[in-house]
Amino acid sequence: LEPKEEFSHKTLAMDVMRPRRSDPPLSVITQDGMSVEEVETLITDTSYSGFPVVVSHESQRLVGFVLRRDLVISIENARQRQDGVVSTSQIFFTEYTPPQLPSSPSPLKLRGILDLSPFTVTDHTAMDIVVDIFRKLGLRQCLVTHNGRLLGIITKKDILKHMAQIANRDPDSILFN
Ligand code: ADP
Repeated sequence: LEPKEEFSHKTLAMDVMRPRRSDPPLSVITQDGMSVEEVETLITDTSYSGFPVVVSHESQRLVGFVLRRDLVISIENARQRQDGVVSTSQIFFTEYTPPQLPSSPSPLKLRGILDLSPFTVTDHTAMDIVVDIFRKLGLRQCLVTHNGRLLGIITKKDILKHMAQIANRDPDSILFN
């Protein structure tokens, strides 16, 4: 087998990440500007284990990663205990919250539950390297970027599914992935 051919077999992060071209876009949360109600809707409408937090939908700059269960617990707690947190309260993952109008509901500050350095790779990273990192660091998921913009996510299950697919299609090719 030519080395070149071997290279062309190499699976990249972009081949394994979600969403696929035909899938709905990645479900993200913006670092500010979303209400408690909007985030609750996202939680009920999806079943993902976590959500990337971005600066804005336009920039798709990654700020961190928040686990679904931490969001659920924090919102529940805030609704029960924190005075003034209601459906229309704004959620902030930023370090500072701008002064609120006296008439607006109390903000909900959630920076504390944000993983500020989630593991990321670029879309052109070879999957054998990604798999190695998952194993060595015991990752559950990894984010994929291109030129600093968030593109997608790879979970441990995505990798396992991908490996199973390759093994089915061509049992020998697994050697090159
Ligand atoms: P698992 O892969 O263990 O089932 P999840 O339930 O978090 O973990 O993810 C289910 C699928 O959705 C995976 O293929 C994953 O890549 C994708 N995914 C995970 N988080 C998101 C998200 N925030 N937006 C879009 N797709 C996601």
